[in-house]
Amino acid sequence: MHTKEAEAALRTALGDAHVAIEDVRRVFVTHLHPDHIGMAGTLERAGAEVVMHGPELENASRMWSRDHRMLDETYAWFERHGMPKDVDEGMRTAWLEIGRAVDEVERVTSAGDGEVLDLGGRHARLKWTPGHTDYHAVLVDEPERVLFSGDHVLPRITSNVGLYPYSRDNPLGDFLDALRAVRTLPVTRVLPAHGDPFDDLPGRVDQILAHHEDRLRATIDALGDAERDAYAVCRTLFPVLRSAHEERFALAETLAHLRYLERRGKVREIDGVPVRWSASE
Ligand SMILES: [Zn+2]
Ligand SMILES: [Zn+2]
Repeated sequence: MHTKEAEAALRTALGDAHVAIEDVRRVFVTHLHPDHIGMAGTLERAGAEVVMHGPELENASRMWSRDHRMLDETYAWFERHGMPKDVDEGMRTAWLEIGRAVDEVERVTSAGDGEVLDLGGRHARLKWTPGHTDYHAVLVDEPERVLFSGDHVLPRITSNVGLYPYSRDNPLGDFLDALRAVRTLPVTRVLPAHGDPFDDLPGRVDQILAHHEDRLRATIDALGDAERDAYAVCRTLFPVLRSAHEERFALAETLAHLRYLERRGKVREIDGVPVRWSASE
């Protein structure tokens, strides 16, 4: 995100590599989240070309537009899923706060799935990896056997996968398929967006797949024989939540698991206020 500290850290790290910010010619943004797109405008104004996966770029314009329509829709929808009103209000304020740490970007070059980008002489292929966001993309440098994994595969934490009113139909289904799709890439080094580089891509992918199997089972267990709203299920799955952001991520992630199970016939969605869920017989 564009904070004073983050900008200073960027300049220092580039300086350590003997690169001035004006020397950066091209920047690839993996997805629209504020911690990834937040300083793209700063780099652009210093002379870089900013490149993004086309459909992710369209969603970014909607997400960060100043009319807040997406925000209103999101919170009306969270409320339908049982979110208490005071938590909802807290999250809204926090989200508006974050929006202020995202640069406006004038021009972004749109790139397609499979396109090869020249990044300082490296040839990196853009690969669409939906789930964490609908059109998240990673870069695969096949000659060097390196994967720039963005937030798709992280070494220590699992990526947040959430269902929102504007999401693709089944984000968790997308995410698990996209994990299986990167598992077999000819890669010996992964450079993630959070945490340290690591080498064993298939091993890490298998851990994440197993984690979601566990969480899907826990989601069914949390329903038991009852009809519960998603917020109640969420508080069973995530008993400790420390901020409005964590509540938002936790509820969206619970909904992604419920939707995945619903599309596989394992749970039922019962319309009403709030919407309730039950395990299938
Ligand atoms: Zn992200
Ligand atoms: Zn991130």
